[in-house]
Amino acid sequence: MSDEIFYIEDGDGGFAIPCQLKIAADCVQVGEFCESKEDARHWAEEECWIFSGEWYLCVECNQQIMLNISKLQTKK
Ligand SMILES: [Zn+2]
Repeated sequence: MSDEIFYIEDGDGGFAIPCQLKIAADCVQVGEFCESKEDARHWAEEECWIFSGEWYLCVECNQQIMLNISKLQTKK
C-alpha cells in the first residue's frame, strides 16, 4: 500500500522521486537516481523532503509554501 508514490525511472533500472510541486526557483525537481525505489525514498528522507502520504516535496518548495502562507497572513 505504501508503494503508491510516483517514481521516475532512468531506463537503466534506477529510480528517483520527483518533487511534486516544483514551485521554488531553486527546486531540485528530481531526487537522485538510486538502484531501488526504497533507496530513492531513503534519499528523499535523508534530504528532509516532506512526505504527504502520496508524494514528496523538496525542502526548497516547502519553504516557498511557508513563505506564501506567511505573505497571505500578513496581507489581511
Ligand atoms: Zn521542489
